[in-house]
Amino acid sequence: MPGEATGTRDEPGTGGEDVRETPEAGGGASLRGAGWALAGLGVVIGAVAWFSTPWRTLPAGAPHVAPDPARDFTAEQIARARAFDAALSVPSYLSLALTLLVAGVLVATPAGALLAARLRGPWWVRALCAVAALTAVTELLRWPLGMWYESRLRDYGLSVQTWGSWAGDRLKSAGVETLLTAAMIVVVIALARRFARWWIPAAAGAFALTVAASFVYPVVVEPLFSDFTPMAQGPLRRDLLAMAERDGVPVEDVLVADASRRTTALNAYVSGFGATRRIVVYDTLLKAPPREVELVVAHELGHAKRNDVLYGTLLGALGGAAGVVLLHLVTSAGPVRRRTRVSSLADPRAVGLLMGLMTLGAVLSGPAQNVISRHIEARADAHALDLTRDPATFVAMQKRLAITNISDLSPDVVEYVLYASHPATPERIALARSWALLNRLPAPPGNAGP
Ligand SMILES: [Zn+2]
Repeated sequence: MPGEATGTRDEPGTGGEDVRETPEAGGGASLRGAGWALAGLGVVIGAVAWFSTPWRTLPAGAPHVAPDPARDFTAEQIARARAFDAALSVPSYLSLALTLLVAGVLVATPAGALLAARLRGPWWVRALCAVAALTAVTELLRWPLGMWYESRLRDYGLSVQTWGSWAGDRLKSAGVETLLTAAMIVVVIALARRFARWWIPAAAGAFALTVAASFVYPVVVEPLFSDFTPMAQGPLRRDLLAMAERDGVPVEDVLVADASRRTTALNAYVSGFGATRRIVVYDTLLKAPPREVELVVAHELGHAKRNDVLYGTLLGALGGAAGVVLLHLVTSAGPVRRRTRVSSLADPRAVGLLMGLMTLGAVLSGPAQNVISRHIEARADAHALDLTRDPATFVAMQKRLAITNISDLSPDVVEYVLYASHPATPERIALARSWALLNRLPAPPGNAGP
């Protein structure tokens, strides 16, 4: 099922002065240096991704089991999932198309420069205003698509949010995104104004900012959207903490998020690392049988045990640094400068171009992130099976998640590449059967209705 595409920017402004062509100091030598730095970062990113991604989930020799939705889901359930997916497709793809269109306009036309040229004040005020204006315009353009998407969720009973709370969440997300984008852009412009080779400190800054953001996210951003309370005392909490201890993963607490205020979907996740690491389960999940909740938490323990958030953050931080170097190379290119009429990143007129490139970078790197994520998720599933040795409950839990969340049971190639951060449910169930055969335990039978 496609998620809603996120992140974009703006739209044309009008008027404004012309911009001179002034190559930045450092010229050719700086570009060669940046080229080498990008190649070096590319090799490091490739190596970290290659060696930290579990390409094989089960040991060689595990019997292959083919994913088959019809084995576990009724024809009615499969049809409902297909209809829901189709209902979300249109607003999702339109939102993605709009995101790409706006980014394309910013990267290939003088729209961003013309808008910024109309602003007055010190350079940093103009830069901040340009970020705010471009974000506001984009958010406005995407707003109706967001409402369309949200209405579909309501039609299918997945969202129980009021429009007021939906709009509040959306504005908060846009606010957080604007603050982060503004911080990055003001820093880039400030460095470009001061140093010919601004991209070196900027790349280091992007690395540091990504690590810091991932660390503080659970304690700064997540509380803006949900309330978290320690799971109530009782047998479930005791069992979960005992399981974590048995697993050798130090967990002080399992937190419950009040997700039922906005959704009926079931979910759990791990975020942060080191002192801010937390395992969170949605309160909606607590209605499931305790054995199934345990399986979900066992999967999350798999992430915690292998430090998936930390490796993900490291890759994201390296990707951010490489992105800055690429930004320097792209914005130095003659055709880009001529088309956007941005002669230097030291000028706040570059804000639109920077935002457009950042959006394109985020969209284009998504499929690579998904490939890595799907393998990491499969490893966490295998961990849950190793820890609980209960493939039958694993399959029951996967079925409950898929039916309640109306998951896409047979995503097409485009959806899989663009949006699938997890293997599809039939693949996850097939993994459990394969694990059971490997461990000489009875493979969970299929039990789709007649
Ligand atoms: Zn996971």
